[in-house]
Amino acid sequence: MKRVVIKVGTHVLTEQNRLARDRIMNLISFIVELMKRYEVILVSSGAVAAGYTKIKLNKQMVENKQTLCAVGQPYLMSVYQKKLERLGFLAGQVLLTADDFDSRKRTQNAKRAIETMLKYKILPIINENDTTAIEELVFGDNDQLSAHATYYFDADLLVILSDIDGYYDKDPKKNEDAKILKVVNEIDNKDLEDECSPNHAFATGGIVTKLKAADFLLKRGRSMFLSSGFDLKDARSFLLEGKHFGGTLFTPKENL
Ligand code: ADP
Repeated sequence: MKRVVIKVGTHVLTEQNRLARDRIMNLISFIVELMKRYEVILVSSGAVAAGYTKIKLNKQMVENKQTLCAVGQPYLMSVYQKKLERLGFLAGQVLLTADDFDSRKRTQNAKRAIETMLKYKILPIINENDTTAIEELVFGDNDQLSAHATYYFDADLLVILSDIDGYYDKDPKKNEDAKILKVVNEIDNKDLEDECSPNHAFATGGIVTKLKAADFLLKRGRSMFLSSGFDLKDARSFLLEGKHFGGTLFTPKENL
């Protein structure tokens, strides 16, 4: 059975300081459909934003951000869990930091837990452990964390569900004539050096971290699909019908 990692961003999970419940419900229904066909691992952002829906702390201060994450992570998990249980599945929480991928031993420990969850059809839900992660050890964005999870946990494909429906030749929010790139085989170094450009108060990613994630995977012979998390139709056609209508597929030339 093929293994996929699905990464969903803060922007998709929240709206106007609330959890976007309809989108979360759609996402979980989609993941349950996928679980019949694939082994699925979810990487979910949104803990800090979920915490902020409960208590309005100034998130510019590190200790407040840690606190928002501590409050928001179990809240978000409970929403996932309730919906999954209604559909007959369980969720397992996995909090990782960059150093979990640093040593073979730690990576193997995490992998063993993930493998066991997958064996029992439990959905592993990964997030970065923002409550205690030390500055230099953190990925700082779940795009790169999910790329590492894809590679080290032996997944075939990373699917990033974003607030944008693909990778464009320029920022589509600023350029009306931007064109979507359907298939990308390699990423130019200069595109990896642009400043991060998240367009949401709680987002830490932006397109650059997605390109870094894609670059990490392309260099290791793996693929990544970037499509909308607001409307799952492109991800659905790609993963369940094998049809590539919308979204961008990053794949090494030799895989085509
Ligand atoms: P997420 O919350 O899903 O992680 P982000 O909002 O952090 O997503 O990053 C996606 C955003 O990056 C898009 O909404 C878009 O405004 C911006 N962006 C900048 N350049 C590009 C580009 N070339 N193609 C697509 N999106 C781009």
